Amino acid sequence: MTMNERHYVPPLEDVRFLLEEVFDLGDVLGRDPYRDADIEVALAVLEQAGRFAADVLGPINAVGDAVGSHLVDGAVRTPPGFKDAYRRYCEAGWVGLDLPAQYGGQGLPLVVQAGVAEMVTGSCMAFSMLPLMGRAASRLLVGHAEAGLRDAIVPRLVSGEWTATICISEPQAGSDVGRISTRAAPRGDGSWALTGTKIFITYGDHDLAAQIIHMVLARTPGAPAGTRGLSLFIVPKFALTRDWVPGERNAATVARVEHKMGLKASPTCVLDLDGAQGFMVGGEGNGLKTMFDMVNVMRLETGIQGLAVGGAATAKALAYTEQRLQGGAAEAAPVPLIAHADVRRMLYTMRARVEAMRAMMFETALQLDLAVTAASEEERVAAREQAQWLLPICKAFFTATGFEVANLAVQCFGGHGYVSDAGVEQYVRDLRVASIYEGTNGIQAFDLVVRKLIGDEGRRYGEFVGRIRRDVGLTAHRDDMRGIRAAVVDGLGRIERVSAAYRALAPGQRRSAEGGAAAFLALAGRVASAWMWLRMAAVATGPSALHRRKRELAAFYAAYLMPEILALERQALPGAACVDGLDAGTLADYA
Ligand SMILES: Cc1cc2nc3c(=O)[nH]c(=O)nc-3n(C[C@H](O)[C@H](O)[C@H](O)COP(=O)(O)OP(=O)(O)OC[C@H]3O[C@@H](n4cnc5c(N)ncnc54)[C@H](O)[C@@H]3O)c2cc1C
Repeated sequence: MTMNERHYVPPLEDVRFLLEEVFDLGDVLGRDPYRDADIEVALAVLEQAGRFAADVLGPINAVGDAVGSHLVDGAVRTPPGFKDAYRRYCEAGWVGLDLPAQYGGQGLPLVVQAGVAEMVTGSCMAFSMLPLMGRAASRLLVGHAEAGLRDAIVPRLVSGEWTATICISEPQAGSDVGRISTRAAPRGDGSWALTGTKIFITYGDHDLAAQIIHMVLARTPGAPAGTRGLSLFIVPKFALTRDWVPGERNAATVARVEHKMGLKASPTCVLDLDGAQGFMVGGEGNGLKTMFDMVNVMRLETGIQGLAVGGAATAKALAYTEQRLQGGAAEAAPVPLIAHADVRRMLYTMRARVEAMRAMMFETALQLDLAVTAASEEERVAAREQAQWLLPICKAFFTATGFEVANLAVQCFGGHGYVSDAGVEQYVRDLRVASIYEGTNGIQAFDLVVRKLIGDEGRRYGEFVGRIRRDVGLTAHRDDMRGIRAAVVDGLGRIERVSAAYRALAPGQRRSAEGGAAAFLALAGRVASAWMWLRMAAVATGPSALHRRKRELAAFYAAYLMPEILALERQALPGAACVDGLDAGTLADYA
């Protein structure tokens, strides 16, 4: 099979470079609870994941898109190949990679799981969403569920025998989670009866596992309005007996599977709850806070979707442009597309964006691991806060950037990219939704600016820019890195100006920060990417092709991509998005 015909090419060389040369995993690997893991184990696992992604998941991606999942007689039927792939995925133990060994997991750090997630997602995004929710729900239940429930459910989620969903959205409650109206009434035996309609539920039903555990936000009798009135319930597809064994079919049924732009193999379901049996987890009124343990895992992985699909599209574009012959002097043989300056501009852009995102993914996962393994409480708190700062950037910047990269891949293929045979237009369609779900990118920008930057008086932000400054200082003697260093310093100056302006706003003026938030997040993502290129260039000093490529791409990032921040700084400044001059009626009047 030629490079061009391969369904998926795992980025193993880059992963190895990042984990061996750029990041120091010494404070994570070999430390509790990852005492048995070392770099050889980590790399071996990542290599196996790469093989699995290429051999098992890559081949079902296109058929999943072509056939899709469908509702047949009230049950969802997944496309050909998904059952076998899921069985093999579970048998290989991938679901519980970063979950505790006592529940059947492999107890590896998130930094390894994140690398695996990129490959699983890049090879088949629609498949990847199912095990992701089982992992995320397991983490939540380990932390919050009562022992009987936890011990009955978590090992089965970790083995993949059962799967999970996340049920937040309702017709009137999208971004505005506080409007959830699904009701939970006590049944007098410790369980609850849930009634309401949840929409857009990913893998709300399927034929891949014996049981589905829905994680549902609902409102108890007399609960206050808004998010404070929400509690979290598990609602099984098959009601659980007193011994937690699945029995009768529960009153949780799929009314519809949505027709959508992409991700066709991943069933997006309307789930009707009609007095369905449920069990509260995390205490009354703590639903949203508890659910965040699941949402945070999913937010990083939603960001990884941008990297993963962008990376897969880049690999295809590189292979194609090396082989397709077009252009050159009329009397001479045509040259490969990769020879043309404009095609190279696209390929350089794609690689520079993707490789920076991959480094940022590991940086974020590492902070999440350090929040558990670091020696002192102070270091653990600092790591947790850094992760909190980076997560909305990963979610929104990666998904927007991955989409741009996938779109560039279509451009590299020309008309052959627009037709479906090449498989790149699927990347664009599949990835589009990642900017929408798991908190829209607009909501992420609001979270970054209003809660994380203004809300904590710049503490998390200060640590972020402080760490970048330290790395700039460490490379001050390196003349060969002048370009990327200057770009990072310039970026720091611009983000500092905007954040100072935000922090100076009186509470009544915060709306002008909200208008600039999307540009601020895009600016922060670019500054963080430049920081990653600085760190990669700092160690890429050898003669190998990989190191030469890193040096060149760092220089390209600095010279060609960083100038985008000039505009972003201006757009982010309070008041630049002057969007309040028109009343809603005048703005909406379009006839
Ligand atoms: C394929 C797919 C899978 C999904 N899977 C799940 C799932 O498994 N479980 C689940 O619970 N949900 C799921 N969702 C739902 C998803 O999380 C929501 O679509 C998302 O939260 C946005 O809600 P909405 O669609 O109602 O958009 P709206 O909330 O109506 O937002 C529309 C636009 O307005 C903006 N906006 C809204 N409110 C504000 C505000 N206060 N300030 C500024 N801008 C605002 C948004 O950013 C967005 O651009 C899925 C959706 C899709 C399409």
